[in-house]
Formats: sequence, structure tokens, C-alpha cells
Amino acid sequence: MIPEYVNFILSLLRQANYKAYAVGGCVRDVLRGVTPHDWDVCTSARPEEIERVFADLPQIHTGKKHGTVAVVVAHKTVEITTFRADGAYLDHRHPAGVTFLSDLEGDLSRRDFTINAMALDETERPIDRFGGQKDLQDRIIRTVGDPVERFREDGLRILRGLRFASRLDFEIEPATARAMLAERDLLLGISAERIFSELKGILIGPGAGRILRAFAPICFAILPELAPMAGFEQHSPYHDSNVWEHTIRALEASPANPIFRLGLLFHDCGKPACFTRDETGRGHFYGHPQKSRELAEGALRRLKCDTATLDRVLYLIERHDTWLPETEKNMRRFLLHEDVDRVRDLLAVQRCDALAHAPVGRDPALRNIEKWEQLLNAVLAQKPCLSLKTLAVSGDDLLSLGMAPGPAVGRLLNDMLREVADGTLKNDREALLVYAEAHI
Ligand code: ATP
Ligand code: MG
Repeated sequence: MIPEYVNFILSLLRQANYKAYAVGGCVRDVLRGVTPHDWDVCTSARPEEIERVFADLPQIHTGKKHGTVAVVVAHKTVEITTFRADGAYLDHRHPAGVTFLSDLEGDLSRRDFTINAMALDETERPIDRFGGQKDLQDRIIRTVGDPVERFREDGLRILRGLRFASRLDFEIEPATARAMLAERDLLLGISAERIFSELKGILIGPGAGRILRAFAPICFAILPELAPMAGFEQHSPYHDSNVWEHTIRALEASPANPIFRLGLLFHDCGKPACFTRDETGRGHFYGHPQKSRELAEGALRRLKCDTATLDRVLYLIERHDTWLPETEKNMRRFLLHEDVDRVRDLLAVQRCDALAHAPVGRDPALRNIEKWEQLLNAVLAQKPCLSLKTLAVSGDDLLSLGMAPGPAVGRLLNDMLREVADGTLKNDREALLVYAEAHI
């Protein structure tokens, strides 16, 4: 069960007369039959003592004041942490100080959830003081100790709990769930980076939709931009659910990819602000993709989303309702300005959106998407020239023909590219040079 390199660490500590155990997430994962992505060790050795025991190995000391020394063995990093109790929490996030302990018990009781509060003893049997094995078996997330108290110590645990519930597809124990909802404003004091990272974790889990439904107020506490969607009726034959439920259904239809899921989470959040009804009583949401994009940009920047993700997500939100070209020629022209991977992402998101519509809206939309996808594939199969990089002449060629350097060079190249994409000019060096001479 415990891999060789971790046993090596445990036995060196034990030979030096310290207690040492594999602990936390790795124990949880082993017990549910999953290979842990990393192994954490806890020990009675103090940080300086850990350093001494592993003096011959590379070490990382950035966590030392919290009792953690990371040791590199067999190209793997193992975090070794002294048994500790966390001091009083002053700001609902950081303990004022840590107290090192000499026994495992106290260390287990500071951990967040029962399934995360187990260790393995010398014979690889679980040490389980809080019913973690039973909760694993029953698929339940439950705090160690009083949930309100535990969340007040560290508000981030609310999102950690939702993330584990989503990722493992577990239920949240009722008192823990009530405390999460009641104490949700604690999240306002948590750093944006940590919130964003947990949010993505929640969104990509198999239980994401269920969690968003049951814990919507928590989601709205960190993303108030989404709150107006809750219960917002669409008054449209194309929809059979309110905007928030539609959003969740679209997200549930999507692959577990943070870009798609963030895009879908926000794709319709501008709808309430754009809502109008016509004389027949039917609802419309003119301009909502732009509005959704605007709201999403504000929210994602506040959460310190990296720019690559931001860019891709906003593209999907803004375009989610657009029609794609219907002829090969228009598709080629379209691809002159669009990145193929993004267009594929867009089609995937449009399909999820369509799947969350009422059948009258869904079926025609799915047929359109299918058609666009086939057209895209057909066009790409012809390996068309869609960028200046693959055009058979370059700016240098135009200069050799006597053209003066300047913006006109780029314009002529792009004119030729456009003609090539349209099929009115061949991507052939001779033909292009003839065309260029005639147009200089
Ligand atoms: P993952 O598979 O996501 O890494 P993990 O359980 O290993 O899950 P980590 O964030 O790596 O989660 O933390 C390791 C362990 O430290 C947890 O299992 C838990 O026992 C403890 N822990 C981490 N963060 C907290 C916290 N905010 N409050 C209490 N205990 C925590
Ligand atoms: Mg971990």
C-alpha cells in the first residue's frame, strides 16, 4: 500500500525514535482504492530534527514555520510535518501560531473533515478517531468536531468541503451543510486566489451540478454576479427551466474542463439585466452574451483568474449564441480571423447549452451545431491556406517586386490571403506574384 519511497522516510524517522505516519488525503485515497497523487507524513520530530534526519537529502524549507519540511526522495517530494495544534484563529484563516505536539491525536483533530483525518500505523492499518472510514463508506463529508466552530477557524474549509463533495460525489452531512450555508459570509475574508482554485475544483467534479443546486447561496456569496439568475423565469418556449437551473443543466452536460465549466457558469448571467417581454408576453434577452461577458470579466478579475483562462472563458461567453457560417467559403473567411481550437471549444459549449433547452429549442440547435461541425471538418480536410504563414509568398517577395516597405505590404498580403480563402486565387507562388505585380 505505502510506496517504497514513503516507507523509506517513515523508517528513517522511526529508527531515530520519532513517531511517524502517513496522514491525510493519501490515507483517504488509499482507503477508497485510488492511488494518491502525493503522500504526506506527520511526525513527532520537530522541524530541525526532521532536517537532521534527512540531512543527506534535498530539502525545501518554505513551510518550516508551520512545521513542514519537504524532502525529495526518488524524484518525489514528500511533505513531512511535525504533529501540531493550530493556535487561536484571529482572522478566520490563519492561526495566530502553531503549537507542536508529541502525539498524533491532537494533530488528527485539527484536520478539516473526518475522511481527511486518518493516518496509517506501522502495520498500515488506519488510525481513525473520528469515524472517517464509516463516512468514506457512506460517502459523507463531515467536519471533525463542531462545524460552525471549524468554519469560523478557517472559512476556506466551506469551499474545501464542497470541493471534496463534488470531486468524490459525496453527500454533505446535514449539520455540516447547515453550517456551510449559515457561515458563508466568512468567505468574504478569504483570498481571491484560494477561492478561485477551490471554485474550479468544485466545478470540475462529477457532483458539480448537485452542489451548485444545493449550495447556491454559497456560490452567490463569492459570485454575486450570478445571484439574479436564481429562479429567474424565461417566459420562452425554448426553455423549460429558470436561468439558474438552465445554467446548471448546461454545466452538467459539459466535459469536466474548467474552461468550459466556467464559461457555462457565466454564459447567461447577463440575462436578468437584459430581460424584456414582447406584446405576446414572450421573454427576450437581447444583448445578454455581451452583458454576461462583462459581468464574468469583473468576477474573474476579482478572483485573480490568470489571463489565458480569462481570455478563453470570455470568448466562449460572448460567442455562445452566435451562428456560425453555413457555406464553405464563409467558413474559410471566418477561419481567417478565428482560432480553430477556440471554434471547437465554442461548438462544444453551444452543444451543452442546447442540451439544457426545452426540446423545441434543443433539437434545431443541435442540428445546427452538427451542421457547423461537419462544415468545419470538411473545410479543414481540404487543408486550406488560412494564414499568412502558409501563403506561398511573403512580404520579402513583395519588396523584391519593388514595393516600398510600409503598411501597404501587409494589406496586399491580406488581400491575397482573402482571395485564396475565397477560392478566386490559387495559393501558388507564380500566380500570387502575377497578382501582386498587377496590384502594386
Ligand atoms: P488533495 O487530494 O486535494 O490534495 P488533500 O486531502 O491531500 O486532498 P490538501 O489540501 O493537500 O488536501 O491537505 C492535506 C491534508 O491537510 C488534508 O487531508 C487535511 O487533513 C489537512 N488540511 C488541509 N487544509 C486544511 C484546512 N484548511 N483545515 C484543516 N485541515 C486541512
Ligand atoms: Mg494533498
